[in-house]
Amino acid sequence: MVGVNAAIWAHPWDLIDEGPESAADRLETLGISTVNLATTMHSVQTLNPHNPERKTFFADASAYFQPEDERYGEITPDVNETMGDANWAAEIANAFDGSPISLRSWTVPFHSSQQGRNHPDATIRSPFGDSLVWGLCPSNPAVQEYGRALVGDVANNHGFDAIEMELADYQYGTGYGWHHQEFFTELGPLGEFLFGLCFCDHCQENARDAGVDVETARENARAGLEARFDGGLASTTDVGGGLAEHRAVAAYADVRRDTLTDLFESFADEIAPADFTYYLKMGGLGDDRMGVEHSWKHGLDLTALSEVADDVTVLAYHEDPAVVRDDVRATKELLDVPVTAGILAGHPILDTKDRLADQVDAALEAGADRLSFYGYGVLPERNLEWIGDVLESVQ
Ligand SMILES: [Zn+2]
Repeated sequence: MVGVNAAIWAHPWDLIDEGPESAADRLETLGISTVNLATTMHSVQTLNPHNPERKTFFADASAYFQPEDERYGEITPDVNETMGDANWAAEIANAFDGSPISLRSWTVPFHSSQQGRNHPDATIRSPFGDSLVWGLCPSNPAVQEYGRALVGDVANNHGFDAIEMELADYQYGTGYGWHHQEFFTELGPLGEFLFGLCFCDHCQENARDAGVDVETARENARAGLEARFDGGLASTTDVGGGLAEHRAVAAYADVRRDTLTDLFESFADEIAPADFTYYLKMGGLGDDRMGVEHSWKHGLDLTALSEVADDVTVLAYHEDPAVVRDDVRATKELLDVPVTAGILAGHPILDTKDRLADQVDAALEAGADRLSFYGYGVLPERNLEWIGDVLESVQ
């Protein structure tokens, strides 16, 4: 019987600190065949329970490889300051070269508060004109150029089998929790959507070119947010319902789909012959969590994504296995590409091996083509053992 194809996400510092050869051996023992290695990611503090060198790691949004400078234009990767002159991605790729573990790059290109601070003209702009520092706008030509250079650099210079991209779309309303946020007004789904709807010069220009009444769209977006601030609009107001009443805003948001489709096509071209994977991550937690059918809110056209992506990963992070199953099923229905189920194999999603087994069963039952567990360095040792045991039981 063919075994389950299982991957695990990993941060480079955990593999480097342990020794990548040793980590590869450990992963093979667990039944893991692929590592999705972070090569660029957002600001983070991780707790690293089994790391032999450090139990926590702080990083500003940065890159974990040495970029090929001549590829880049105005925006360049921010090399991680702890890594310094080293090249963690290359060290890990070299160490994994003789192992059966394949390497894919987990690349977060545009969700970067460091890039946002350094390039305030390239960030998402709220309907009020504020710069949302955590996100570069995918409509901006300089951002697009950076994204293409980045994926080409990582794919061509480091031998990854695939570039797995996360957060290259318009999905920032509150920046997924950034810094110590003091949001003492509940934005709700419509408020979050409107707050993150970008009105930078490039988004406005694209919309105008498409015949959208940009001024009405912006006025309506501002009015919706102000109504939320003063209580005139319920926090539970549905995005679709809200937009049905404001066609200019809906049309404005729709223009982003073509922009992203074109951008992702160009990413796939740069990445080839390696594969292009996209992560579907819709935000919200608990009862507020949104399924993959909400992708349009981030400017994603799933039909078009099926054409350009080799596969997708749905981040099915929910404690209820029924939700994991539904996420995978919905993703398989909406996209015509292989689907990886992302499973968070620890707190706060699950705390026993049985609960992990239930999640894995649900994903496989729904037809997941591959599993990916979060994550190597951030899980305690016992959770890694659960992964090994569960994978053995489903082989
Ligand atoms: Zn924009």
